[in-house]
Amino acid sequence: MAGAMKGTPKYAIRAQKRAMAASRAQYIGVKASIQTAAARVRAAIASSSAVVPIVPKAPRSAAALRAATDSCQNAFNKAVTRVLVDWLGFRVPETFELDAILPEVNPRLSSFKLTLAAKDLTWLDRELNLRKVKLILGDQEKVVRFKDARDFLKGVNELLANRKLAFVELETWADDFAFLLVRDPRWDKLKNPELVVVKADQTATGGECGECGAPVGKYWSDCLKCGAVFG
Ligand SMILES: [Zn+2]
Repeated sequence: MAGAMKGTPKYAIRAQKRAMAASRAQYIGVKASIQTAAARVRAAIASSSAVVPIVPKAPRSAAALRAATDSCQNAFNKAVTRVLVDWLGFRVPETFELDAILPEVNPRLSSFKLTLAAKDLTWLDRELNLRKVKLILGDQEKVVRFKDARDFLKGVNELLANRKLAFVELETWADDFAFLLVRDPRWDKLKNPELVVVKADQTATGGECGECGAPVGKYWSDCLKCGAVFG
């Protein structure tokens, strides 16, 4: 027995090694998932070709440089906005079923101990995709008419208003819609299209819609008010 006391028994060394290997594997596993997330941002940014050339081939005019920087900035904003949607937000196709949107909305509201329920869904006009539904949030009720996810979430936002929460629409540059649940939106910051492209009346500081004259954002693909699509 005295011999065994000198060093660590072999079975104990093996157990220790296994434990170390296991904890390292766990550590590496966690690290890997963080790195994957970071890699996705880098990949998204890289694939958007948001790279400012360091050494221009020929001397450029100030205007050409500014245009190049603008288009890089635009690509960068697109990448950042898309990454936000992929990570934190959700997309809704142009035509959607109510059963598909509630499972997107409710897990996000559950962080705030809220659940949205919907009942009495009725079609008003199938051709226009116009529907009507009663939304229930706690002891609040509201009848919402909607033809797309934008209308629907606007109704949800009205129910959420006194809880300082809002589903913020992000630009997708496509026919689908994307939303992010934001607590107490800082509209003064979100208004900055160089930060992230948020589509809301409060961030419409990029000019006017050619069709209806409503204010629109710098990088928006369509008008919030009349739906006109920009080239
Ligand atoms: Zn318009």
